[in-house]
Amino acid sequence: MKDNINWKSIKTVLLDMDGTLLDLHFDNYFWQEYLPEHWGKMNDMDAETAKAQLKDWYSKEAGTLSWYCLDFWTDRLKFDVLALKADVEHLIKYRPYAKSFLEKLNRNAAYSIIMVTNAHENLIKMKVEKTGIDVFFKRIISSHTIGHAKEEQAFWEKLKIESPFDLNETLLIDDNLTVLRAARKFGINNLLTISKPDSQNEEQDPEEFDAIDSFEKIIF
Ligand SMILES: [Mg+2]
Repeated sequence: MKDNINWKSIKTVLLDMDGTLLDLHFDNYFWQEYLPEHWGKMNDMDAETAKAQLKDWYSKEAGTLSWYCLDFWTDRLKFDVLALKADVEHLIKYRPYAKSFLEKLNRNAAYSIIMVTNAHENLIKMKVEKTGIDVFFKRIISSHTIGHAKEEQAFWEKLKIESPFDLNETLLIDDNLTVLRAARKFGINNLLTISKPDSQNEEQDPEEFDAIDSFEKIIF
């Protein structure tokens, strides 16, 4: 689908990282397969039991800062989660045409390009080392630095103070529909989601939002 964004009215572009610019397959595979197997082995549990236990724990933290916090899981699971992530870092990849979209966006001086992510700072570092994605951004803002997940109004309130933007001249692209709803509640109306955040998984239902499958479709 083509986006319905009036690019002439946009000055600030807020971009999520995982599932938007980078393939969510890395994160999904890690949390749903690789970590449960590793943690199961450590605790003499078969993979299915480990997966079921972790699924229950994940669902209790969903949408909170803890869910996105590597320190939280390192503490809860009693091993270095970031170090384990490094085992599968070959799966860290750009989504289709995301890099050329960022290059094109950067060639136009009209835009202030800011990454807003729920990823933990150390994970951002790993992904930056792997992809060089940091060069495309004026600022990279982690919800862990702000102190609130993007699902919370407080994130947007603090973001606007730290890095002022005009609500009507701002576009947010994020694969997470709960985050888009929080941003809309705050007053951002130019919103886009991603139809296939994980290259190895089914398309998601974008519900009330416009969705793009590939950044190739964005014309500005
Ligand atoms: Mg995301």
